[in-house]
Amino acid sequence: MITTVNPYTGKELKQYKELTSDQIQEKLELAQKTFDYWRTTSYEQRAEKIRKVGELLEKNKDKYALQMTREMGKPISQSRSELEKCAWLCDHYAENAASYLAPESIKTDYQKSYVSYEPLGVILAVMPWNYPFWQVMRFIVPALMAGNVGVLKHASSVMGCAEMIEELFLEAGFHQGCFQNLTVSSDPIEKIIKNPIIKAATLTGSKPAGSAVAGTAGSEIKKTVLELGGNNALVVLEDADFDQALETCITARYQNTGQSCIAGKRLLLHSTIADKFVELFTEKVKELKIGNPEDEDTYIGVMSRKDLAEELEELMNKSIEKGAKLHYGGKRKDTFFEPTILTGVTSDMPVFREETFGPLMAVSTFDTEDEAIEMVNDSPFGLGASIFTRDTDKAEELSKRIKDGAVFINEKVTSHPALPFGGTGISGYGRELSHFGIREFVNIKTVVVA
Ligand code: NAP
Repeated sequence: MITTVNPYTGKELKQYKELTSDQIQEKLELAQKTFDYWRTTSYEQRAEKIRKVGELLEKNKDKYALQMTREMGKPISQSRSELEKCAWLCDHYAENAASYLAPESIKTDYQKSYVSYEPLGVILAVMPWNYPFWQVMRFIVPALMAGNVGVLKHASSVMGCAEMIEELFLEAGFHQGCFQNLTVSSDPIEKIIKNPIIKAATLTGSKPAGSAVAGTAGSEIKKTVLELGGNNALVVLEDADFDQALETCITARYQNTGQSCIAGKRLLLHSTIADKFVELFTEKVKELKIGNPEDEDTYIGVMSRKDLAEELEELMNKSIEKGAKLHYGGKRKDTFFEPTILTGVTSDMPVFREETFGPLMAVSTFDTEDEAIEMVNDSPFGLGASIFTRDTDKAEELSKRIKDGAVFINEKVTSHPALPFGGTGISGYGRELSHFGIREFVNIKTVVVA
């Protein structure tokens, strides 16, 4: 039995009965049967349904938003923004999938040669709780537009959202087997990946979950895409526009109560501006509205689980033991973690080395740009980094020396339907979104006419 709990009230929400092996097999067989039909549909037919999904996301926004907020504690206004972004994603792929997957002619000695992008079949997605709708939509929308079908193993804590997403696709007119929610814990995932019906898998989540899924898939020679954690740096150079940098760094760290893989977790400040920047940053942190996630004006809610809040507290305390200064915040009660700033953070401290998945900013200083780049790259993660400066030419040059999957100049790292999203190192591999994302789960078929 899977039980969901409201992290703000601590009260149980619902119990979900897990699928048996036979029920899982039935769903996979339905997916396979549906794929045989779905692959023959045109881009126009697919786009019409995906547009309908976008419309329904808008129409049912309040219902879905409340479910997210109740299951994982996301402030309600941020839940609604997530759904609006999902609708944007639907429009983007409805509009662009056909051109992203158009056959590509290649000039050779043959009479004719080209690449045809063709669907693979049934794809498994294992998804996390932090953006319960966005993470799933980011997978399934391009997958369906490419002619694949999908099955979802969502995080146990957001099983209600998983059911709603399944209903949403049915309401939009998709055949039942196009997108199915599997109500399961992670226990049967190994067996599901090994099932011959599953052709590939994608996982967004932690490194242990990623290696488990990729390990099994690898042993079966099935492709995977992994979107794992991040420890993004926000680099503020001497000549940065303070107002812009401050606003952006606050959102980069504290939105979604800090529980985002692409959150700016390490604030790297030029030593000449550090004191002033920290002072103004602290003022802004004090203004963040803490409260009930269901209240309209709440910006900081609760963390999604008590154990995750405790983990963050441990990283904080161990860093303080090593010499970091608790500049602001630091209190925790159950799932609530006060917005926190640690200063004097050095590269040997846990808050610098490990991912802080909650509202805690780790502040360090540097004296030269070389030193800043070294600090950005001093991490096994590689999801993204931001540089704040008025000299954008210089920032573009610096970006070439950063090993991450994305560099945003004068902006927080964010996901955009038209831009590839993914990391290097232990942040994972493969890309989602854009034409790169939709081509991850296709057969890049070479066709030659001699
Ligand atoms: P998690 O424990 O890795 O869970 C993610 C998903 O994997 C859940 O559906 C979970 O199911 C499942 N899972 C866990 N262990 C598994 C295993 N051994 N085999 C198969 N499936 C398994 O991560 P989380 O606590 O939900 O999320 C936090 C982590 O995810 C952070 O590290 C964060 O950075 C990362 N994340 C990355 C991105 C990105 O786009 N790069 C986005 C969001 C989160 P259960 O819930 O049933 O355990």
